[in-house]
This record gives sequence, structure tokens and C-alpha cells, in this order.
Amino acid sequence: ALLNLLECAVQTLPNDLDTYWMPFTANRQFKQAPRMLVAAEGMYYRSRDNRQILDGTSGLWCVNAGHARPEITETVHRQLATLDYAPSFQMGHPIAFEAAAKLRALLPPPLGHVFFTNSGSESVDTALKIALAYHQVRGQGSRTRLIGRERGYHGVGFGGISVGGIPGNRRQFGAQLPGVDHLPHTHNLAENAFSRGQPAWGAHLADDLERIIALHDPSTIAAVIVEPMAGSTGVLMPPKGYLERLRDICTRYGILLIFDEVITGFGRLGGHAFAAQKFGVTPDMITMAKGLTNGAIPMGAVATSDEIHATFMAQPNQAAIELAHGYTYSGHPVACAAAIATLDIYRRDGLFARAEELASHFENAAHALRDAPHVIDIRNMGLVAGIELASRPGQPGARAYETFVRCFENGTLIRVTGDIIALSPPLIISRQQIDELFEAARNALEAVA
Ligand code: PLP
Repeated sequence: ALLNLLECAVQTLPNDLDTYWMPFTANRQFKQAPRMLVAAEGMYYRSRDNRQILDGTSGLWCVNAGHARPEITETVHRQLATLDYAPSFQMGHPIAFEAAAKLRALLPPPLGHVFFTNSGSESVDTALKIALAYHQVRGQGSRTRLIGRERGYHGVGFGGISVGGIPGNRRQFGAQLPGVDHLPHTHNLAENAFSRGQPAWGAHLADDLERIIALHDPSTIAAVIVEPMAGSTGVLMPPKGYLERLRDICTRYGILLIFDEVITGFGRLGGHAFAAQKFGVTPDMITMAKGLTNGAIPMGAVATSDEIHATFMAQPNQAAIELAHGYTYSGHPVACAAAIATLDIYRRDGLFARAEELASHFENAAHALRDAPHVIDIRNMGLVAGIELASRPGQPGARAYETFVRCFENGTLIRVTGDIIALSPPLIISRQQIDELFEAARNALEAVA
């Protein structure tokens, strides 16, 4: 199966490492010792120096069905040759309608409508704009405030960084949306360290929304956006009962609840397509991207409730554009082809159920690291685990970064954020590969100072 990986030879480094300004990267440090990936298949990458690298992160939380799936490759190839591009403004092409219908089948009712974007960041900004416009259309234009949460990651658009709660992602950019407030994050090691699945403590933190609503008045608040499980900021599970309370409060005050499922979508938490279904809490909108196309072609989407959609469609002038929003590449035919092929694989191979079947093995393998050096917390659900390390005094993030580099040198791709390791392998991983993944993490932790 790894034939095409084995046949590849060592490749030279590009002559020009300088021109490409790399995203979310310490460019100068990276370019002194580049970590290059040149091929991928199934559970593995191949590095430039021709080593096999176990993918413990589904690329960047996207490749849920494993790499280089021939069904996706062939469908994309065929679509490119048939209809490479077509405009989506006042024009249509059937595959976009097909992709929306296929996605709808995975969504929790009453989320019955889909708006296409090209990324998670665009999905977030789209959902925020839909929320604001929705209130305006139904005559509640005073609802302009958006509520996010500390330690939330909602991409890098101005909307996303405004509702996001990662100080480092906001500090450099003065201009942000006005009228945004933030819920407290739910992470608490003193109460919840080494919880398996949802932690017991912390549902009451949702009640802070009541305080924020009282402070600003409900008539000013449009929407609350949270990741049901915060991924990028270090795998923070929602406390038991927390999301339910957020839902109740939002419903009570006519505020839209948005779940950002860019990471949690498409089976990551096991057993269901979306965290909304896993936790039994239905938001008014879900933002997604990444796993929608298995990472193969950039694509995102916003799912909205039937009620939100119907509100726009009830505007009196049938000839007017109901929502003045969209992207040149919304519903791009090649992305739609990739999405359809991906969703077919998820269903045919039962990958969401597979993630659930593997979850207890994964959980046990994760929590077996409890006695590894520097580990102060482990948390998990489905096929995602967060392993939090004690920071080296005066050098936050250094220990995890060195762990990441060492893992890569030894043939495993992990992801780190601050001093937290996040593991989120493709849902096709085997039990043995799960063991290898956590063993690689242990070996690296035992080697770093
Ligand atoms: N929202 C969440 C929850 C994410 O995890 C991410 C990316 O990791 C984004 C939004 C942004 O997605 P993108 O990088 O595709 O813009």
C-alpha cells in the first residue's frame, strides 16, 4: 500500500526559502532547519529526506479519511476536466446543489440550509454576518453585539479574531469589531485534571452569559459563538451540562447560538458527524471546513437553521438578493466534487462509528502517558487528545516545541500549541498505530529537558 511512498527518493531543498512568507510559522527559525513534507498516503507522510512520518494530526485536523484517497483524487480530476470553474452569483451548477444536499443529510435538524465558503475563517465571518443580517431582516437591528469566549479560535478574519479569545492572535491588530464581549473559558486543572471525556466541573461558567446579557441588554446581542470543544487552544472539553445551559440562555433571550465545528465536524469526537449531535445540543448555525473535503481542496460551509433561512426568504422583494454576501469560489465545482467524494467515503467506510469504536483504546493510550515527564493533564474524546505539559520556567512553549521537533525527527507528526500537545489522527488509524503514536510522544517527552 505504501508503494508510492517507498519509491520516492530524497529531494533537494528549494533554492529560494526566503520568498515564501509562511503562515503561523517562526519563519527564521524554520528556514534554518526546514521540516518538509513531499508526499502522503493513508496514515503517513513522507518527508523530503525520504522518511515515513506517522500523521498524528490529520494534517491540520482535516484529513479525517486518511491521505490520497483515490475516490477523491479521481472525482476531483474528472470534475476539473468537466467544469473547472463556474460563477455562483446569479448562476448555478448542479454539483453545488448536490454537495449541499449531501451535507444536509449529516446535519442535525432543523439545520437544513448550507452556504459555501473556502475556509474556516470565511465560514466564521459568514456566520457572524448572517447573524447580524438575520436580526436586521426581522426588525431587530439593534442586535449588533457578538459574544465569543476566552481561548476560542475562530480563524483569522477580523470577525474571527474579534470573537476569538487568543491574546496572541489579537495583539498585533488594533482594529477589531466593536461591541464584542467574551465568556470565560472553561479550562481548570485544579478541578478537572485528567478527566476522560467531558469534565464534571464547570457547567456554571455558562451562567456568565446571563451577566453579559444583563450588562449590555438582550436587545443588543445578536449571537454567541463557541467551539463545542476548543481545539486550537489546546483541546478543551465542554464541562457536562455547559453547552445545554448556553443553549437555554440563548433561546430565552432570542440570541443565536453558533457552534464553530471546523475541528469537531466530520467524526472527530466519535459516533456522529458533528459535536452538536454528540452532545445533543443543537445550535442555530454550524461553521465547518477542513474535514468537509478531507483537506484535499479548500472548502468551508455554514449550516443554518430553517428558521434563519426562511427569515431571509420572506423578504418582500423577490428580485432582491436576500443576503449580500458570497465568494468568487463559493460552491466551487472542484471543491464540491471533493466534498461529495469525501462524504461518500465517510458513509461507506463508517468512519464516524469507527472513531467511536477506537475511542476507548485511544483514551487508554492517552491516559497511559500520565506518568510521563512534564505531563500535568490529559484530556480526550473520540479521536482527539490534549496532553498538557508543565512549562519550562521562563520559556513558555519551548518544551512542547522541542517535543514536536523530536517527534518529527523520529517519524511522527504531532501538533503543539503553547505547552499543550494535541493529537487528532485520521479516523482510519489502527490500534497499533494509536499505540505507536503515544509511544512516540512518550519517547520524545522522556528525551526533552
Ligand atoms: N475555527 C476553528 C474552530 C478552527 O479550528 C479553525 C482552524 O483551525 C478555523 C476556524 C479557521 O479555519 P481556516 O484556517 O480554514 O480559516
